[in-house]
Amino acid sequence: MATHHTKMLIIGSGPAGFSAAIYGARALMEPIVVQGLQPGGQLTITTDVENYPGFKDVIQGPWLMEQMQAQAEHVGTRMMWDTIVSVEIDKGPPFRAIGDSGDEYIGDTLVIATGAQAKWLGAPGEQQLGGKGVSACATCDGFFYRGKKVAVIGGGNTAVEEALYLTNHSDDVTLIHRRDELRAEKILQERLFKSNKISTLWNKTVVSFEGDPADGGLTHLVLTDTVTGETSTLEVDGAFVAIGHAPATELFKGKLEMDDSGYLIVEPGTPKTAIPGVFACGDVMDHTYRQAVTAAGTGCMAALDAERFLATLEFAKQEAEAAE
Ligand code: NDP
Repeated sequence: MATHHTKMLIIGSGPAGFSAAIYGARALMEPIVVQGLQPGGQLTITTDVENYPGFKDVIQGPWLMEQMQAQAEHVGTRMMWDTIVSVEIDKGPPFRAIGDSGDEYIGDTLVIATGAQAKWLGAPGEQQLGGKGVSACATCDGFFYRGKKVAVIGGGNTAVEEALYLTNHSDDVTLIHRRDELRAEKILQERLFKSNKISTLWNKTVVSFEGDPADGGLTHLVLTDTVTGETSTLEVDGAFVAIGHAPATELFKGKLEMDDSGYLIVEPGTPKTAIPGVFACGDVMDHTYRQAVTAAGTGCMAALDAERFLATLEFAKQEAEAAE
């Protein structure tokens, strides 16, 4: 068991964490990134990425994350293959975190970039056909279903926004909801019902996702009616599961302010949490945009604010010393 000290401790290794690391390292903060259970984050489970700026050709999510990690390491970040299991932030700075390995991490600033996970239905075929017709992000993958039949599962804001977004690519979008009433905001519902490209299937749940992952991917969904119990099928090329996201904030319960869905609350327009020196960036504090590029942007902001925070502390220390 070892103790590692750094000016900037980053928990999480998606686009937010790596971007914070790149900026932090270049500001000579010698950051440590504790990578967590899914090094590279959500992009490591997607395939084609076409909307990350800087690449004309389609790139692969895992490849993009490898590049970000390599860049962060190249400029001086220390990567730790560990998962933080507890944090102590009320007595900081410095802030203390304990890894699964038993190692202790001490950060003069703390950047939380633990991300979020799309919730999945857990139905047969869903995992096997992931990236082969089944997705949890229309903005990321909708383009690949140009002119094809797609379905969105869910009845909240995300589901309705995804369905509306998909009409940019497809004239045949079906929204499948388990009840006969949407949870989404009225204005979104209005737009949904106005669209002649979207039809709704009420009181239906997806029993299974069918198709061969090695041969063409998803072909159809098996549905069951929640009222009558009847089974039916729906032929689709793509299915977007939009039943919510869960931010990875378990570690911070009772320690940092969260909204009702568990997302960390930051000062609007900044990555600052209520505890000076603790910053949150990426999907863990953003349930609206949730894009790799926005996560990278807030990661950069967290590093810049962390640097300013330390500079202010240092200045105050020097002033106090000079006054003695
Ligand atoms: P929500 O929790 O609001 O909605 C989830 C939807 O999925 C519900 O309709 C729910 O059904 C359905 N669902 C949940 N579990 C299952 C299941 N096992 N099987 C079938 N259906 C299921 O999640 P969202 O991601 O839509 O939104 C999360 C938060 O983010 C909300 O606060 C939302 O307002 C916000 N948001 C805001 C946006 C904006 O302001 N532009 C955009 C996107 C999200 P049921 O209704 O029956 O419970």
